[in-house]
Amino acid sequence: MPDALAPGLYLVATPIGNLGDITLRALEVLKSADSIACEDTRQTQKLLNHYGIATPTISYHEHNELDRAAKLIEELKSGARIAIVSDAGTPGISDPGSILVREAIAAGVPVVPIPGASAAITALIASGLPADEFHFIGFLPEKAGARRTRLEALVEQPRDTPQTVILYEAPHRIADTLADIEAVFGPNLRIVAARELTKLHEEFLRGTVAEVHSQLEARDRIRGEFVLLLELSPQTNKLGAPHLDSEMWESISTQINRLQSQHNLDEKEALKRLARELGKSKSELYRELQRERAKRR
Ligand code: SAM
Repeated sequence: MPDALAPGLYLVATPIGNLGDITLRALEVLKSADSIACEDTRQTQKLLNHYGIATPTISYHEHNELDRAAKLIEELKSGARIAIVSDAGTPGISDPGSILVREAIAAGVPVVPIPGASAAITALIASGLPADEFHFIGFLPEKAGARRTRLEALVEQPRDTPQTVILYEAPHRIADTLADIEAVFGPNLRIVAARELTKLHEEFLRGTVAEVHSQLEARDRIRGEFVLLLELSPQTNKLGAPHLDSEMWESISTQINRLQSQHNLDEKEALKRLARELGKSKSELYRELQRERAKRR
């Protein structure tokens, strides 16, 4: 690394948990830049304090991105060295940064990537799912209807080879998202939920979407950030084939019927009993039953 940093916009990846996951080059750039544009200055300050870096910070987030970009471009045009960082991981990946990059390129300002951690790639490499072809989609829409539509569009996309779909999810929405994935792809789609990557409680939950969903639902509280990875094969279609195990779908109503006749129960009581036996919540099993019935119609 030369002593004087050349003028330009530096996109600096920062750790996604473990503070050791930052490159020597990233630290040099953060030290030598004129200023660091941060998604959240307080968050970045913790990292800078840890590494004894005193470079001034300015805020640059989704709400002021447009205004700030114009000002930063002016500074860059007059020879400034500006680093941009997000709260965690790689700027521009489900994070602010891309507007500034486009404008810097248009203004003829050098744009320099300083690569490092990104939650998507970190999760993919340890997932055990196909990594030759993957499709990163970032966050799904927050609204339930739009989320379903987005997932259904994925099912309909033609694929020649197995492909891993990677998405980001927050802990308070993970259960709903898994329920939607289960409804769209069927319960036997193979997935991985990667939680708290590079942190003390790092965890990979691997299995069918139904298994991972019920494991998480059984917890008192779901903590941490998630990356979800879905294994889609060329045959994956709207019914979830080849992952859909039709016996499993049928088995909910079949098992309920069996319990009803064996123990003289009404449907509600049988559902309650089956939920207990399967280690699921009543409402979860009821949703599955409803989906099963809807699919048969
Ligand atoms: N730019 C970042 C990157 O390159 O990974 C992603 C930023 S996005 C706003 C934040 C999302 O990334 C979280 O909601 C979560 O889905 C995922 N994420 C970030 N850090 C993570 C971690 N340590 N473990 C699991 N997922 C993480």
